[in-house]
Amino acid sequence: MKIGVIGGGQLGRMLALAGTPLGMKFVFLDPAQDACAAALGEHIHADYHDHEHLRQLADQVDMVTFEFESVPADTVAFLSQFVPVYPCAESLRIARDRLLEKNLFRSLDIPVAPFAAIDSQVELEQAVVSIGLPAVLKTRTLGYDGKGQKVLREASDVSDAYAELGSVPCILEDFVEFSGEVSLIAARGRDGACNFYPLVHNTHRDGVLRLSIASAQHPLQKLAEQYTAGVLEHLDYVGVLAFEFFEVDGGLTANEIAPRVHNSGHWTIEAAECSQFENHLRAITGLPLGSTEKLGESAMVNFIGSVPDIAGLAAIDDCHVHAYGKAFKEGRKVGHATVRSTSAQAVQRQLGEIRALMAADK
Ligand code: AMP
Repeated sequence: MKIGVIGGGQLGRMLALAGTPLGMKFVFLDPAQDACAAALGEHIHADYHDHEHLRQLADQVDMVTFEFESVPADTVAFLSQFVPVYPCAESLRIARDRLLEKNLFRSLDIPVAPFAAIDSQVELEQAVVSIGLPAVLKTRTLGYDGKGQKVLREASDVSDAYAELGSVPCILEDFVEFSGEVSLIAARGRDGACNFYPLVHNTHRDGVLRLSIASAQHPLQKLAEQYTAGVLEHLDYVGVLAFEFFEVDGGLTANEIAPRVHNSGHWTIEAAECSQFENHLRAITGLPLGSTEKLGESAMVNFIGSVPDIAGLAAIDDCHVHAYGKAFKEGRKVGHATVRSTSAQAVQRQLGEIRALMAADK
């Protein structure tokens, strides 16, 4: 089985690491010369709009999948003429546009913070009156890791905010006073079977995920599964999908979905029976889904900018290091580590050791 992947970053790389033992081969299409997944398969070095190279990809693979959601619609439409594409074009269309996404949640009775579509500075000023401050202005498309958004706290923040985000279509969202952020990673097979991983508690800084801790029997697990199942069924989704929520007053408010394997699911490589990467590949190739059971306690830490001393990390008990082979760049995710243990206290101790190495690396 040969899988085409649009995008050749670390998610593509980890897909290939999971699929190779299943006998799968991988071809990545990515415009970056130094795409880090290229070490694990063939690399078609081309732009996402380059039909000649997209055709070359489609002709040599059994199916195509994606490692990011901002894939141009025409890329998906073009590929779909020649080869099965998972997840489907509609899932990508919704997930790359924050307005369509929020409208979908609302139509499925999934709670969302008050929001409004913004297409001009005048509309922004009107929406601020009805939604109030603080609020978050976000570009409808191409936002990730906190990019393409601005928190508006006082009137002076509003005056040139629309232009600051590039005068592109946006949404304004009420600022959610959450007690925590959680995500649910789900896999849905071609036959409609769904498996859900345990809810993960996520800590972000500057809009970027830093730490994920998988919860044992989280009281909101069933509710998160119910909301996620609604989205999966509605989209007739095939593959892994991540749903990010805010915890508010003992309930869940939807933030966003990612129609792909997700950073907050990296812990599943070592700390779940079957990883999110393997389950995505199982789902799209029509294999039975693997178990999403958690193996003990675990936590995942992202390395931003640089990876700390590998020998030091390797010396920590049950610490699993992933260095993506990406060049240093401020703010870039270049690796992660997952620690695993039988007790939550031991995981905290392991995390402390990782943090000490990260501090020494600065
Ligand atoms: P996003 O790209 O929408 O996931 O936003 C990145 C991070 O910004 C989230 O994980 C939150 O920590 C924060 N954030 C996004 N939207 C809101 C909001 N409406 N209220 C409060 N914090 C938010």
